[in-house]
Amino acid sequence: MEIIDGKAISQQIKAELKAAVQFRKSEGKKIPHLAAVLVGTDSASMTYVQNKVKACEEIGFESTLIRYDDSVPEDILLAKVESLNQDRSIDGFIVQLPLPKHIDELKVTQAIDPLKDIDGFHPRNLGNMVVHLPGFLPATPAGILELIRRKNIPTEGKNCVIIGRSNIVGMPLSIMLSGNSNPGNCTVTLAHSKTTNLPEICRQADIIIAAAGQPGFVTYDMVKAGAVVIDVGTTRIEDPKAPKGWRLAGDVDFENVAPKCSMITPVPGGVGPMTIASLMMNTLKAMELKGK
Ligand code: NAP
Repeated sequence: MEIIDGKAISQQIKAELKAAVQFRKSEGKKIPHLAAVLVGTDSASMTYVQNKVKACEEIGFESTLIRYDDSVPEDILLAKVESLNQDRSIDGFIVQLPLPKHIDELKVTQAIDPLKDIDGFHPRNLGNMVVHLPGFLPATPAGILELIRRKNIPTEGKNCVIIGRSNIVGMPLSIMLSGNSNPGNCTVTLAHSKTTNLPEICRQADIIIAAAGQPGFVTYDMVKAGAVVIDVGTTRIEDPKAPKGWRLAGDVDFENVAPKCSMITPVPGGVGPMTIASLMMNTLKAMELKGK
């Protein structure tokens, strides 16, 4: 059994991106510039955004953080999105989700210029992915694919069960892994809360990708011996022994499932760092696509 070190792989990607930035600098070319919009003070969102800004610093990208109170009106946020669309110094930007309830997330996502949509959430980028046109792939699924590629995990002809069908993780991942590509060519089952007999379905899987947001949901009896298990789940659960009073829990009962797998990702240190690496790759791509 191998525990996949997503942090180490992401460090490798960041080192490659840093070298690309230094090369661009040596040629007098523009440095990628990422902007992040954060609304409110949700501590998980603040951590995610801080980690993205920190990654920019590590690589040598420029970054700009724009913050609003929870109470920011939707039209002010939409006006900011439009100004970022127009700002030629910004190559790509994200609006950290979730947004407060009075703001329509889909409206905000659709307002982002698809050519600056480095999260890959815009319907045009999702559509481009489906018909294999160039565009931005959603950061978490793209990070998982990169992890699979770099670990040489065979996918062709394999049964893959993805648990969770969200627009940002499970659904795009199912399209990517079932496509005629490498990684890809899997036979994918996309499971959700209405799926019946999920343990039986999972036991047929060569690859299980858990993205349900349900701590410890994938148990020993659901996993075939030798399967690859990728845990996307990150739920904060109270833990009085942890320094912050909470810890991150994955969707997999890691302790019991790990010995049965050929490879498994931990939480934290698996998919999370790959998501950030993938966002950084999209930022560089955003700049290159415009021929800057
Ligand atoms: P989401 O929008 O809440 O979707 C959860 C999905 O899981 C839904 O499709 C839901 O089914 C399904 N589900 C929930 N309970 C289930 C059950 N008991 N059996 C089968 N399916 C079930 O979640 P998300 O945004 O995709 O995120 C999923 C998890 O990944 C969360 O823990 C999130 O924090 C984490 N995440 C991590 C990263 C990272 O970089 N590491 C990035 C994104 C998300 P229905 O559609 O039927 O409701």
